[in-house]
Amino acid sequence: MPGRDVEALQALLGPGALPSRRRPAAERGVALPPLTDHHVHLHLIDAAALVRGGIAGAVDLGGDPALLARRAAARMPHVAYAGAFLTAPGGYPFGRPWAPDAIVRAVTSADPAPGIAGGARTCVDEQADAGASVIKVSLNADGGPVIDDPALDAVVSAAHARGLPVVAHVEGAGTTRRAVEAGVDALAHTPFTEVLDPGLVARAALAGQRWISTLSIPGIDAGIAGANLSAFVDAGGRVLYGTDLGNGDRPAGIVVQELVALHRAGVRGPDLLATLTDPWPLARIGAGVATFVAGPPPPDADAVPEWLAGARVVPEEELIRDES
Ligand SMILES: [Zn+2]
Repeated sequence: MPGRDVEALQALLGPGALPSRRRPAAERGVALPPLTDHHVHLHLIDAAALVRGGIAGAVDLGGDPALLARRAAARMPHVAYAGAFLTAPGGYPFGRPWAPDAIVRAVTSADPAPGIAGGARTCVDEQADAGASVIKVSLNADGGPVIDDPALDAVVSAAHARGLPVVAHVEGAGTTRRAVEAGVDALAHTPFTEVLDPGLVARAALAGQRWISTLSIPGIDAGIAGANLSAFVDAGGRVLYGTDLGNGDRPAGIVVQELVALHRAGVRGPDLLATLTDPWPLARIGAGVATFVAGPPPPDADAVPEWLAGARVVPEEELIRDES
């Protein structure tokens, strides 16, 4: 492929895209870095189907830390995880049919000392000791009691002291503002219950907060979420592809509706690919694997979401650069 064609390919799909052939049949296509879904629940989905559907990396944002620690040893998908949800006693997601007690912890005190039952630091330390790469906190004011500001601050401090970012589930009035003011590093969902004040969105973007998209969850107000994500992108905010797979009944793998919704919100072409190839919260994922999409590259950015439905996880050694 002539150099100018490689330039055009990378203008459309980002610097990691390369014209490639896949052995043994020398099938032609496009190679991309490994792709990550930054919000899944592995106890509710078929992880093998996730990989068959093109996803090499999965970030579990709410599961049993002991089970996740065992699963993380498997090579594929490459898993990063939060462990249990940290929430108020009786708060979301306690009691939900999909949330056994093993995946939720009640924070009953802001006590920063180690080894206090229900203390913020104890709850964080348990997840970190089980190998968590991120700490998940629930701020769902529409779903039950929510931890207070001293407890939230203590969770954030304890996580940062362990070198871990904090991701918050925000839902209900004022919860995004609380997450921004507490220095929460990422939101597990684009806020979907209220159109946010532009000043707050700008503040989140400026602070470097990452928003995990989840625009295609069944039952959320996609109009509100899409408007908030567009404002966040316009303010320079960093977006990560995430689906909340396990929520609703969508097949595991790349969720094209999520990519279409991101594209509509203004995350297009190389920016869309960047939401998938960012290894957050890890430094890198998928050693030894790459993504391969057989056939010709997409003609333009509008075609990229559907084209990515053909993405497959392949061993790196099967790919050779297509120089023809
Ligand atoms: Zn979730």
